[in-house]
Amino acid sequence: MIYKKNKLTLDRFYISSIIKKYKTPIYCYSYQKIKENIQNLKNHFKKINPLICYAVKANSNLGILKEIRKNNLGADVVSLGELMKALKAGIQPKKIVFSGVGKITEEIEFAINKNILLINAESESEILEIEKIAKKKKKIVNIGIRLNPNTDAKTLRQISTGKKENKFGVDQKIFSHLVNIVKKSKNLNLKCLSVHIGSQILNNKPYVNMLKAVSKVIKKCNYNFEYIDLGGGMGIDYIHNNSKLNLKKYSQEIEKFLKVNNCKIIFEPGRSIIGNSGILITKVIYIKKGFKKDFVILDAAMNDLMRPALYGATHKIIPLKKINSKSKKVYEFVGPICESTDTFLTTKNYQKLHEKDYLVICDVGAYGMSLASNYNLRPKPLEILIKNSKILTLNKRQKISELM
Ligand SMILES: *Cc1c(COP(=O)(O)O)cnc(C)c1O
Repeated sequence: MIYKKNKLTLDRFYISSIIKKYKTPIYCYSYQKIKENIQNLKNHFKKINPLICYAVKANSNLGILKEIRKNNLGADVVSLGELMKALKAGIQPKKIVFSGVGKITEEIEFAINKNILLINAESESEILEIEKIAKKKKKIVNIGIRLNPNTDAKTLRQISTGKKENKFGVDQKIFSHLVNIVKKSKNLNLKCLSVHIGSQILNNKPYVNMLKAVSKVIKKCNYNFEYIDLGGGMGIDYIHNNSKLNLKKYSQEIEKFLKVNNCKIIFEPGRSIIGNSGILITKVIYIKKGFKKDFVILDAAMNDLMRPALYGATHKIIPLKKINSKSKKVYEFVGPICESTDTFLTTKNYQKLHEKDYLVICDVGAYGMSLASNYNLRPKPLEILIKNSKILTLNKRQKISELM
């Protein structure tokens, strides 16, 4: 996104031309950016040659999934719905992994019927359930076991998943025990060790610790895993100060790991593929004086973009039209929903805004629309994609009548 003559553009499109055509709030994605992000991951991990399985939960729009498939990625899914949608988008079953702590019978049966690459199990009970279903179907099912490496991802507490107090995976002791159970099974084929320590990781240290923990466990259970699934979590630069994960370093650490452990690497990135490709275009409804600051009340709310309310996450908010106002303002950007957590950002030194101005909330491609709800009975926003100088509608704005 760049300003041309103080007017905001995305892939050479003036955002002002979009709001002339559509009503806000609008999720708008850049095809160019998605492609760049995928290429960036592929380039950095070239020596590893991983299977990249896009984490569908980050953004499950069918149009987006189709673009991802065209770039030859697989998918990481966490529900029957996501699995069905990945298949509908044309992603090959042999590139799909199924994660999650609570897969129900119906989900496991469907995954087995479709012959997906791996079901990554997270408990003894789940393994026994998969075995039971596999036996009934007289099939041999490829599975992974998710390790909880007890690694602090040093990210927001709410999006940490690899510490021993988290519900995900199993600890080292139980892991070895489960390996022995699966080894004895006639209907299960243990192919993978998986980990995923959390999201929005900006520092390499947690990944280094994770790789160490994985190496240790592999040694301890003395088993040749065909795949090591390292999950996702690669962080992006939400505050626009170049604070992103050093992928080169991460790649080098994995290369070292592969010298000791001969296996194929799987990644499950979500945010790093789609996060910075999306913006949420919104309009100022009212501006209201508050105590020591003014409230800028937007037509986008926590039901459209949940991350700030859910995790205390920060998204930059920038104006469609830059002006050189002398008076700088302290603003709190909020939505119209009846919750005090329906607030996006408080900022000092902001240019003076007016009612009916338009703004852009940045980097909302991941966990934006996929976390959207109908809270306060608000329809979900329109989603569009800018591709090759064209605007494509990915998903129409919900109609109020659909909610009645
Ligand atoms: C959420 C999740 C991911 C994707 O995480 P990102 O931070 O978006 O890359 C990958 N794997 C698993 C198991 C997940 O739960």
